[in-house]
Amino acid sequence: MFDAVIIGGGPAGSSCALWLKMLGFRPCLVERRQALGGLQNDNPYPNAWIAPVRDKTGLEIAADIDRHLKEHDIVCRLGEAVSELEVVKGGFRVTTTGGEIILGRTCVLATGVRPVKGGFTDSDTVIIGPGQTLFNAGFEGRSVAILGGGDNAFENYIFVRKRGAGRITLFARTIRARREFLEKVPPADVRIGPYAVDPAEPSVDGARFDRILVLYGWEPYLPYARHLNLRRDPRGFVETSVDCETAIPGLYAIGEIAQRMHPCCVTSMADGVVAAKAIQRTLEQDAVARFAERVRRAAAPEPAARREPFPRTR
Ligand SMILES: Cc1cc2nc3c(=O)[nH]c(=O)nc-3n(C[C@H](O)[C@H](O)[C@H](O)COP(=O)(O)OP(=O)(O)OC[C@H]3O[C@@H](n4cnc5c(N)ncnc54)[C@H](O)[C@@H]3O)c2cc1C
Repeated sequence: MFDAVIIGGGPAGSSCALWLKMLGFRPCLVERRQALGGLQNDNPYPNAWIAPVRDKTGLEIAADIDRHLKEHDIVCRLGEAVSELEVVKGGFRVTTTGGEIILGRTCVLATGVRPVKGGFTDSDTVIIGPGQTLFNAGFEGRSVAILGGGDNAFENYIFVRKRGAGRITLFARTIRARREFLEKVPPADVRIGPYAVDPAEPSVDGARFDRILVLYGWEPYLPYARHLNLRRDPRGFVETSVDCETAIPGLYAIGEIAQRMHPCCVTSMADGVVAAKAIQRTLEQDAVARFAERVRRAAAPEPAARREPFPRTR
């Protein structure tokens, strides 16, 4: 029985495992990939958003997370996806696709998000979500349709333009991107409103494109916990208390799966800390009460020595 089973070894889950280990507990981290670091393994771009980290790409940050946790001898099951999570007496039972069963007194969901597919399938011409595949694709002289109206869509317009794309058209039902990106995209290359896509051609609104990029944002990913009927917000993100605890006592949700704050590495890692401290409080409750009782007893005056009853004399 581990003190906590943490499902997902991205920035959130890794930070939670590290804090628990440093606080004297025994966590077990289960990660589907062969390495820790989560979505940063898909980020070949510089990540300049973490105050104390300089000149590193997301890939390098992922490698640092992986190395750091291994240096702390944290128990990790890499290359194992969790297929089922059950609430059992005294804690939680986690089953992996490899058939391993792991028990924890508490459990932390940290499986992050995945790109919204919008009914499309990845292919040579259709690329879903940002990351390595998009980064490695050739755009020189190609016509590109970008679907989506958020930061990712606009930022990747700028990216494929730099990579030498020819005609680029951005199709957005609504626009939500931040000003910095809006200023860099010519309005003539943007269509606002409904549009029709034929991925087989491939074409959008009848115009042919060499590549279609689907950048519809992200959705939480926790198929293994579907039957627990966790409380979710309208977009499907797991609702928690400020301590990151779900409605099920001892079950926590952290990082992008909960999306309580602006989702990024730092807020995800902060969630990991909050959950680790909440778990510490829960697991140490009894120890604190026992210690307080010993303090009370130590402070109480010694009971007076028992006197023998005065011998009665006649
Ligand atoms: C291209 C790109 C660039 C980005 N750039 C930045 C940036 O510059 N700065 C920044 O702060 N943020 C950036 N982000 C966002 C950042 O990576 C995320 O906010 C952060 O990784 C979220 O951490 P997380 O731990 O919640 O989830 P994730 O990183 O998604 O980690 C979840 C982990 O759970 C694992 N998992 C999923 N299902 C299972 C299962 N069933 N069993 C076991 N394991 C499972 C996944 O494999 C994954 O490793 C970027 C993201 C992308 C894609």
